[in-house]
Amino acid sequence: ATPMSIMVATGRGATHGVLVRDAEALETMARVDTLVFDKTGTLTEGKPQLTVVEPVEAIAADELLRLAASLEQGSEHPLAGAIVAAAGERGLRLGAVQEFRAEAGRGVTGVVEGHAVALGNAELLRAQGLEDEAFAGRAGALRERGATVMFVVVDGRVVGLLGVADPVRAGARETLERLRGQGLRLVMLTGDHRATAEAVARGLGIDEVEAGVSPAGKAEFIRKLQLEGRRVAMAGDGINDAPALAQAEVGIAMGSGTDVAIESAGITLLHGDLRGVARARTLGVETLANIR
Ligand code: ADP
Ligand code: MG
Repeated sequence: ATPMSIMVATGRGATHGVLVRDAEALETMARVDTLVFDKTGTLTEGKPQLTVVEPVEAIAADELLRLAASLEQGSEHPLAGAIVAAAGERGLRLGAVQEFRAEAGRGVTGVVEGHAVALGNAELLRAQGLEDEAFAGRAGALRERGATVMFVVVDGRVVGLLGVADPVRAGARETLERLRGQGLRLVMLTGDHRATAEAVARGLGIDEVEAGVSPAGKAEFIRKLQLEGRRVAMAGDGINDAPALAQAEVGIAMGSGTDVAIESAGITLLHGDLRGVARARTLGVETLANIR
C-alpha cells in the first residue's frame, strides 16, 4: 500500500476507535480467514455481576462473600471486581490479606485473618488437593445459565460457591454475524468452564468453543490453527491473552483491557467496541485494494 493510502486508512480507523500500530496490521487483517475471540472482557463486557452466593457449609452468606472479597482485593481480574463490588454494596468490611497469590486461569489464594482462603475454578480446587464432584449438580445448573462458578475454600474445606454472570457486549452478535457472512471461521477461546462458555457462545451464534484453556494453552491453540494453514486474528483483553495476541498473525486488543494485551496487539479497539473488528477488516481490504 502507498504511504498515503495507509495514512488515510489509519486516520479513518482512528475516527472509529480502531487504533492501528502499522500498515502491516491492517493488511494482515484483510487476509485472515479465522477469528479467535477470548470470552471474558472481549465478547462479554468484562464487568460481571455477582448473582449467586451459596454456602455449602455452616457459614453465613455475608461471611462467605466477605472472605472471598477480602482475598480478591489484590486481583485485577474482572471476576475479582464483581466480588469486591458486591461486598461493598452490602457494606461488608474486608480483611487484610497476607501471602496473596494470583494463579492465572485458575484463581487466587492467600491468608485472610489467619485463615487460608482460596477462590477459583475446579482446577484450583484440584491444585489444593480437593474435588468438585460433590458440587457438580449446583455448579452445572449455574453454568447452563452462562454464569461462571467459583469455589471458596477456607482452611482446606470448600465452604461455598459464588456465581458471576457477565453480559455479552452490545452489538457482539451482529458483528459476529457479519464476520461469519464474510466467510470467516469464528472460535471462542476461554479459560472458563465448557458449560458456561457454550451457554454464552450459543447466545452469540458461535458454534466452535475451546474452553478450559490455560494462558499458555491459548497461544498454543493459535499455533495449532496456524499449523493447519489458517491465518488467524486473535482478539483479547487480558494479561492471559497476551501470548496468544502475539502468536496470531494479528492481535486485536480491547482498549478497555490490560496494558500488556494492548502492547502485544497490532490493533486496539477503543472503548472495547467489537464492531471495530469488522471495521478493521474493511479498512484492510481497502488499503490492499490501493496497492494495485
Ligand atoms: P477468560 O479466558 O474467560 O478471560 P481466565 O483465563 O482469566 O478467563 O480465567 C479462567 C478461570 O479461572 C475463570 O473463569 C475463573 O474460574 C478462574 N479465575 C481466574 N482468575 C480468578 C480470580 N481472580 N478469582 C476467581 N477466579 C479466577
Ligand atoms: Mg479476558
